Amino acid sequence: MQVAKVHFIAKRDKRDILGMPLLGFLFKNRYMLLFYRLLTLFLLLYAIIYGFVNPTKENVFTTAVFWSLFWPFFMVISLPTLGNVFCMVCPHGFLGKHLTRIGLKLRPPKWLANPYIGLIGSNILAYWFVLYTFPSFLRSPLNTALFFTFFTLLSALLFLLFRGMAYCKYVCPIGSVNSAFSRTSFTWLSTYQEECKTCKKPDCALACPYELNPSKFDSRNSMFNCTLCMECAHACDAVKLEAKPWGSSLYKEIKQPKMIEVMVYILLTAVITFTMRFHHGLSRSGISDFMPWVVVGKYLQSMFNLPKWIDMTGLVAMLMALLLVLSVVYLSFKMVAVVSKRSLKDSLLVLGYAFAPLMIVGGLSHVLEFFFTEYYHNIMNGFSQAFGLGIHVEALAKRGEAWLHIFKVFPFIAGLWSLQILWRRSALLAEQRRVLVFAVASSLPGLYLMLSIFALWVMVSFPSVHTHGAH
Ligand code: SF4
Ligand code: SF4
Repeated sequence: MQVAKVHFIAKRDKRDILGMPLLGFLFKNRYMLLFYRLLTLFLLLYAIIYGFVNPTKENVFTTAVFWSLFWPFFMVISLPTLGNVFCMVCPHGFLGKHLTRIGLKLRPPKWLANPYIGLIGSNILAYWFVLYTFPSFLRSPLNTALFFTFFTLLSALLFLLFRGMAYCKYVCPIGSVNSAFSRTSFTWLSTYQEECKTCKKPDCALACPYELNPSKFDSRNSMFNCTLCMECAHACDAVKLEAKPWGSSLYKEIKQPKMIEVMVYILLTAVITFTMRFHHGLSRSGISDFMPWVVVGKYLQSMFNLPKWIDMTGLVAMLMALLLVLSVVYLSFKMVAVVSKRSLKDSLLVLGYAFAPLMIVGGLSHVLEFFFTEYYHNIMNGFSQAFGLGIHVEALAKRGEAWLHIFKVFPFIAGLWSLQILWRRSALLAEQRRVLVFAVASSLPGLYLMLSIFALWVMVSFPSVHTHGAH
């Protein structure tokens, strides 16, 4: 029997953003979406070309677009609030949908179908390792243009070769990062299940360029690699985008938990949050000379007589942060496995989701402070330069101004939220021994909170003796 396609949902849920007058238009209207994507594509191409045409330090536009506006500002603000709207408007994803249609549509080989390529190769090694070890490298407009040209060409090639948006899933530096961190937001894409019951040929799934089935998102408690591209919502009216309580999926059982999501939370907490606290916080305090990464870094720098553009202190800080975080997680979860009588892997897959807020919510502190001291004037003056607007603005605040310390509250919100999720998830792992499991597994958020308190104490007691460059 042919079952009718759902054409129209007459009464949408109150919390369904797609049914709200203005928000529904902004999130779902084809022309609005096209407008955002053409705008970001234009900015991407213009900033790259501008970087090649004007490769000197005079060019403040190219670096402002990539390192101030898109990444990290827009990404860090949008992920824990609206969810993965970064991917929704991403020019690579936009191009990808069209290139895939005309491409070879091959199945990605096994070696490529691995999201750790994106997380460790494209993100940690290609970006964070370079940033800490060669700090001035990516501040150059030419290198920034080359960096994004490389990823644009690579994405185009992979979109043309493979089906299912393989570049986004496996190679993009922020593909798996965005889908993992979007769990901390208040948005959730799914479908009206009553309508789906009558549907035998899910138009939403057939329309999805990522080969996902949104009608299963609720039952799996996972949106997988959803980029909020809204192709499914255009194919069927039964798709909804709900405004739910913040991070609601993190409290419930996850049917197919993914180690890559847990590793995103753990590795980026080490590489971004801990390393920045070490290298961009404590290394610039009055007691920096006592910090172990400074001592070892300076020793290596002089032993190998390295030039100044190589920063061994930054590299050692990152390696020490990784070693510290991974050891703490490994040892504490070994104990959790014993206490809960589950395997180490199971323990991580159930409880590791509690670490989701640490980097992304804690990171709001850094990004908001930097908006006032760096990003705002970088972006405004960069756009003024590139489009001949003839305006010049100063920073909204100077580094060290007392009121900026208000943003230091975010790491504490992140740490406490992580502990609260951990408490709830501990019951999913071992109801009987919940208290013990929670106590042992809270070592990472506990360490994170202690480091935040220590950094605050050092900042007040031994104020900064160096200036902090943009990054
Ligand atoms: S996964 Fe990467 S390339 Fe794909 S849409 Fe998201 S940011 Fe863009
Ligand atoms: S589920 Fe819908 S919004 Fe998500 S990627 Fe697929 S088509 Fe796009």
